[in-house]
Amino acid sequence: MSTYDVAVIGSGPGGYVAAIRCAQLGMKTAIIEKYDTLGGTCLNVGCIPSKALLDSSHHYYDAVKHFEEHGIEIPGDVKVNLEKMIARKQSVVDTNTAGIKYLMDKNKIDVFHGLGSFKDATHITIAKADGKSETIEAKNSIIATGSKPSTLPFIEIDKKRIITSTEALSLTEIPKHLVIIGGGVIGLELGQVYRRLGAEVSVIEYMDRIIPTMDASLSKELQKVLKKQGMKFYTSHKVTAVKTTAKKVIITADDKKGNPVEFEGDYCLVSVGRRPYTDGLGLENAGVKLSETGQVEVNDHLQTNVANIYAIGDVVRGAMLAHKAEEEGVFVAETLAGQKPHIDYNLIPGVVYTWPEVAAVGKTEEELKDAGVSYKSGQFAMRALGRSRASGDIDGFVKILADASTDEVLGVHMCGARVADLIAEAVTAMEFRASAEDIARMSHAHPTYAEAVKEAALAATDNRPLHS
Ligand code: FAD
Ligand code: NAD
Repeated sequence: MSTYDVAVIGSGPGGYVAAIRCAQLGMKTAIIEKYDTLGGTCLNVGCIPSKALLDSSHHYYDAVKHFEEHGIEIPGDVKVNLEKMIARKQSVVDTNTAGIKYLMDKNKIDVFHGLGSFKDATHITIAKADGKSETIEAKNSIIATGSKPSTLPFIEIDKKRIITSTEALSLTEIPKHLVIIGGGVIGLELGQVYRRLGAEVSVIEYMDRIIPTMDASLSKELQKVLKKQGMKFYTSHKVTAVKTTAKKVIITADDKKGNPVEFEGDYCLVSVGRRPYTDGLGLENAGVKLSETGQVEVNDHLQTNVANIYAIGDVVRGAMLAHKAEEEGVFVAETLAGQKPHIDYNLIPGVVYTWPEVAAVGKTEEELKDAGVSYKSGQFAMRALGRSRASGDIDGFVKILADASTDEVLGVHMCGARVADLIAEAVTAMEFRASAEDIARMSHAHPTYAEAVKEAALAATDNRPLHS
């Protein structure tokens, strides 16, 4: 029987990063993945394929809507070849997942394909696709088994008409009317993909605003822009039933006043969140406890109730984000090596990759108000930037919230072109506990979208933006 210092179960961004860091720190490491390809949800059916389709559909939308104003004329109609678009997405996925295999080999990590299941706290049995199984011994284990789409109790996902993000990434036709339940990240990103490709898109959201966990100003701005692009929104609507026929889906919801409303579409995307995934993991054999919500319970060191078993990523509490899972993978590896790592969960940024993009880090205005913190706010509109006018990306703003007395930056909220990348500046500043004035006094290259960060910081410092 092979023996390892660490066995990682699950090869998503949490698991594969944990394995690499363990190997870097000199531990003999194994990784177990039930599917044929490595990379987990993120690389196979999450972050990467959704961004590939967002980028492809963005090119198409620009060609149809914006090329002409730039003086580019295309003789004849611009057409979508969905099959080719989906095939390209798959080749992007394949390149990325092959890259993880390369990294495993480079770091001398043993890869096992098959369902990993605890036999006891130090032994894991791997059930392979060919019916054979193998057991390995592991002094320590890291559970990184991720999550699966969740649904509502009365909805049966048939994967044909009533679909999750996984099916929405590989459709064979552009929906005529895509009805989306849930105006969160998945609903908006994939909704925008199919809207750009020509589908009618209706988003039904239970809360009174889309992306309800983000700063309310971002919900308002993004909804305004997406509405202009033709997406329809039904907030404060409670879905009560979803029925399907061969070619149609009928969704019934109660509106704000409790009156029933019916939506008829050819596809219904259910994007109401994801649930931690521990099926078949044999946690009971190792004595690992789950919380009431099905998450693997961990302490501040990401250690379960069984001392040599740790858990990271979507399967534990906190934001279900790839970069959060990665940080936790590094954290556990360094803990196992006797180091004292640290994660500031307040500084894990959140991004929505629509266009305009949305990105945020730190506290929202709503959170600061609830906590009774006195703060000041500085905001700068993207449309006032030379760079935005040059590219035509004039929607959105950057908002900086700073402590009223110390000027320390407490939250940064952005909507606009490339803000998914701009948010890194805010994270860096906040990691170093910068004041708004610190950012305001830094040189930002001209002309860039990043100038909006400087201007918002000037506005937050003492209301002296230079360009508005
Ligand atoms: P996962 O990536 O879910 O990986 C878990 C792996 O464990 C899987 O490969 C699974 O097969 C394997 N596994 C499970 N049980 C076993 C077992 N018993 N034995 C062996 N293997 C097992 N996050 C972002 O930060 N940015 C984005 O842009 C983004 N876009 C997304 C888009 C979509 C459509 C979706 C669905 C998600 C997106 N996410 C995004 C979320 C991101 O994918 C997850 O937060 C991330 O993948 C979590 O990583 P993980 O390592 O915890 O788990
Ligand atoms: P989400 O939590 O982002 O959004 C779910 C939405 O559904 C919420 O707005 C919620 O209020 C709404 N909702 C819940 N029950 C409802 C009901 N009965 N009727 C109508 N609306 C209802 O979840 P998601 O969009 O499914 O994404 C799942 C996870 O994947 C998220 O945690 C997210 O972090 C991750 N993800 C991240 C990215 C990214 O980082 N860009 C992209 C996609 C997914």
